[in-house]
Amino acid sequence: MKIQENIKELIKGRVYFNEPMTKHTSFKIGGPAEILAIPLDVDDLKKLLEFARREKLPITVIGNGTNILVSDDGIEGLVIKMAEGFSRLEFDNNLALAEAGVHLQRLIEEASKKNLGGFEFAFGIPGALGGAIAMNAGTNSHYISTRIEYAEVIDYNGKIYRFKHDDFYFDYRYSILQEEPLILLNAVLNFERKPFDEILKEKEKSIKGRLEKQPYDLPCAGSVFKNPPTTYAGKVLEESGCKGLRFGDALISEKHANFIVNLGNATAQDVVNLIREAQLRVYKHKDLILELEIKLVGKFRNLNLLERKK
Ligand SMILES: Cc1cc2nc3c(=O)[nH]c(=O)nc-3n(C[C@H](O)[C@H](O)[C@H](O)COP(=O)(O)OP(=O)(O)OC[C@H]3O[C@@H](n4cnc5c(N)ncnc54)[C@H](O)[C@@H]3O)c2cc1C
Repeated sequence: MKIQENIKELIKGRVYFNEPMTKHTSFKIGGPAEILAIPLDVDDLKKLLEFARREKLPITVIGNGTNILVSDDGIEGLVIKMAEGFSRLEFDNNLALAEAGVHLQRLIEEASKKNLGGFEFAFGIPGALGGAIAMNAGTNSHYISTRIEYAEVIDYNGKIYRFKHDDFYFDYRYSILQEEPLILLNAVLNFERKPFDEILKEKEKSIKGRLEKQPYDLPCAGSVFKNPPTTYAGKVLEESGCKGLRFGDALISEKHANFIVNLGNATAQDVVNLIREAQLRVYKHKDLILELEIKLVGKFRNLNLLERKK
């Protein structure tokens, strides 16, 4: 109780206790976060990090929660949500300075009104900028990393660093933010001059393609598995008979085999069971081990997933 009173007074942003993660994830799955805080600026964030150090609380960082599966047991310690605060967005010629909480859709919509393009690949990706950079979000041919000039990150001790592109060690759906205790604060991104009408056409094409191929009508977290080096995860999953597999209310979409959807009351364990069954089928039929793209957050019992040898 005392801890709770302290932290609420500490920051300008909102703080919740035992907050259901169903409210903060696109999957609409997950037990409660012990404490969930939404910092509004660097000062709030530094205070939260100091508080967690003092109280010895583990820290979990999330953005818009569109690429995570949260355990049914929830998340111990402090969850820092970087998606509602940190929303400053400014343009200077063909550069944008965007804070971590800026939603990708807002970023590209506002850029397009200034005849700035180059981010059309990201139409339809529902994350915030920090999550997109942490995941190096994109398509098969375009990644957000190619658009980064430099960025600011903060470590869990409150020290701020200026990162250049190479400091992130970007790879396919990978950046160092996934492994080190670092939080993205903001980034400077480069755009290309492009007429608004051209951007609009590419937007419509991209959204149409997504609606045709992906299940946008049900809660999900995007692609569950990464594409293996020489093929597509969706293709091998489909060819291994995974479409339509179901555990509880978690279903492998009939529309796209790399999407697991929540039919209403799916649990994280349902999703994990489905992931494991899909991995086993693909291993049996294709001799391939599919690696997860989505991030598992919180403690999972009975995980037992297949892992590729490094
Ligand atoms: C319908 C749908 C379609 C999708 N399509 C695509 C697609 O085409 N391409 C694609 O790449 N992804 C896609 N995704 C997945 C997801 O939207 C992206 O990966 C997105 O960029 C994640 O951003 P987020 O803010 O939701 O991150 P979250 O899901 O909240 O977090 C993802 C990871 O980033 C870390 N993180 C978040 N914010 C920060 C921060 N500020 N600093 C450090 N680490 C941070 C978290 O710790 C976590 O490890 C899709 C998802 C859905 C639901």
